[in-house]
Amino acid sequence: MEDKEKKRVEELTELLNKYNHEYYTLNAPSVSDSQYDSLMRELIILEKKRPDLKDPLSPTMRVGGEVSSSFAKVTHKKYMLSIADVFNEEELLGFDATIRKITGLKKVTYMCELKIDGLACSLEYEKGQLVLSSTRGDGNIGEDVTSNVKTISSVPFYIDEKRDLEVRGEVYMPKESFNSLNLQREKENLPLFANSRNAASGSLKQLDPSVTKKRKLDAFWYYVPEALFLGFKFHHEALDYIEKLGFKTNPERRLADGIEEVIKYVEEYGRKRKDLPYDIDGLVIKVDDMTLYDKIGYTMKVPKWEIAYKFTPEEMITRVNDIILQVGRTGRVTPVAILDPVIVSGSTISRVTLNNSDFIESKDIRIGDYVYIHKAGDVIPEISSVVLEKRENTVPYRFPDTCPFCHEKLKKVQGQIYCVNQHCPSKRINQLSFFASDKGMDFHGVGDKLVEQLFNEGLLYSVSDFYKLKDHREEIMLFEGIGEITLDNLLIEIERSKTNSLDKLLSALNIPLVGKKTSQILAKHFSSLDEIMSCSKETLSTLEDVGEITSLAIIDYFHDKDNIEVINKLRENGVNFLSKKEKEVKDNFFKGKRFVITGTLTVSREEMTKRLESLGAISSSAVSKNTDFLLAGEKAGSKYTKAQALNVKIFSENEISSLIEESEEKILL
Ligand code: NAD
Repeated sequence: MEDKEKKRVEELTELLNKYNHEYYTLNAPSVSDSQYDSLMRELIILEKKRPDLKDPLSPTMRVGGEVSSSFAKVTHKKYMLSIADVFNEEELLGFDATIRKITGLKKVTYMCELKIDGLACSLEYEKGQLVLSSTRGDGNIGEDVTSNVKTISSVPFYIDEKRDLEVRGEVYMPKESFNSLNLQREKENLPLFANSRNAASGSLKQLDPSVTKKRKLDAFWYYVPEALFLGFKFHHEALDYIEKLGFKTNPERRLADGIEEVIKYVEEYGRKRKDLPYDIDGLVIKVDDMTLYDKIGYTMKVPKWEIAYKFTPEEMITRVNDIILQVGRTGRVTPVAILDPVIVSGSTISRVTLNNSDFIESKDIRIGDYVYIHKAGDVIPEISSVVLEKRENTVPYRFPDTCPFCHEKLKKVQGQIYCVNQHCPSKRINQLSFFASDKGMDFHGVGDKLVEQLFNEGLLYSVSDFYKLKDHREEIMLFEGIGEITLDNLLIEIERSKTNSLDKLLSALNIPLVGKKTSQILAKHFSSLDEIMSCSKETLSTLEDVGEITSLAIIDYFHDKDNIEVINKLRENGVNFLSKKEKEVKDNFFKGKRFVITGTLTVSREEMTKRLESLGAISSSAVSKNTDFLLAGEKAGSKYTKAQALNVKIFSENEISSLIEESEEKILL
């Protein structure tokens, strides 16, 4: 069988090596930095998933590009590394969580700096005199560019203290120099520089220093490798020191007391970056206390005590590689574009919904086209339009007439295309997945993949089949990744769901137009599922929020032979059909409080949720500013960090257990 992941790793490695060569050596990138970053991220994720495919010379492990032979080679005293990237707030919170975990600190002080878009450079002073300047090169060996760096007027040739010192920073081309350079080149019919970084790099690596001088480069200095040795404990002290010695440091830097202040800095410079007189491609967040650096550590490519927050464009161009159809649980057919992955507004996008056939037609989106992609309302990725200038030999997309899963003819109803075949495998799998999901009967651990596998193996067809799975233990144990304990837990979850409330069952059944709210209304008004099934359309439509169309859909559903059969099987299996009258809970600590659970508890989450809900607490899945408390078990993840950032009260399992006991005693009195 073809190993698709191996093929993709090879493709990505080849592409990234080519782009590195174009960027670092030829100084003529053919793709944008965001496109490069998207591909790099894809490779990092694939290599994490498949360590067997990781090449020791992978671009994910290497700093920069080759060292040009036109300059003398310089071996750095200490590696000049790259910086790992984050693209959104969540990843930034993850970085902070890791730092706090390693250092044991509750709050970390960070130095926030602008990430100047130029090229890294080192200056070496002997007894106060500049003797060498080099580029980063491959991190170990760089190029001697001393004569060129000396043409930058802000670089001090001598410093007041007659000591040996190395200072590192970024050589860049101010926006003004860049614009006039490109204007001049346009006049002279010379190729233009794609951006100020390439212009800076091309200008610093000139064989003739007089050309460099004309290019009006500048530099900011941001790192002193031997700062600890010089007696400084904090990075900010080292920066203040070199500033006093006459080095140009960036005035926008700021100390942040904890990650919340870092986030404010990120937001502020996201707005201000356009107004700066030089380009930045992000921000660099560094732990200020340098005595922690060794403890926090390094990888071969990056220090772990700093992170680059990269700004990503709000709109990107990418290629539509394919258009596939999805058939949801209601039979609605949704076309989806498969894209070359791109990072847009902080997240990687590789597929995007095309809504319906009219949407594709009105935008004339074709397989092979390049498209602009953005996030609608900053959340949902969407294609804005086709890049017509890049269109080559594509043909208009023809929406298929038949379902790709069951080959039945598709039907258009009110502008939407549907597969109306009750036995369509895609529709079935989605209905089964929904029944198992938290919106349905909520079997924790029965995910979409497992449902699909059970369906393909013939162990699931109707939702009632979930309750027969216990008779197929041996067959399921043969599935990859399912051990005995996992299977036991899944079966316990399924058994437990038999006592679910009536509204949960109604939501899970996939009755057209009946969502969570209608299910709750029905369960409140009727004493059992049987009562709903025998109810007339007239009675149903008198209920609050249940209109005539929904009533009709309910009646139709319960008159369908197949549905009646499934319901009878659910009954035979002991699934609860009765509604419970809501009990009024006495006042106690938990009443009306919103909570979220994260991490591993000593009891199941379901059991804990039930206990808390019986005291009047309200369960939710995500932490927000409306959350009253977070119950954090072992190995709590990003929810924990988010709760901390939002100042949400956090309880351990022990603390909650004693509070529950107290409250239970109180309501029994
Ligand atoms: P990087 O540029 O993302 O980050 C590390 C560099 O940031 C440091 O070496 C330093 O030069 C710079 N920097 C600027 N301000 C700084 C500050 N205040 N403190 C510390 N460092 C600061 O990493 P990289 O390895 O130099 O380059 C990789 C990036 O280059 C990619 O993420 C991509 O954006 C770009 N790239 C693009 C292409 C392309 O084809 N478009 C190819 C290769 C690389």
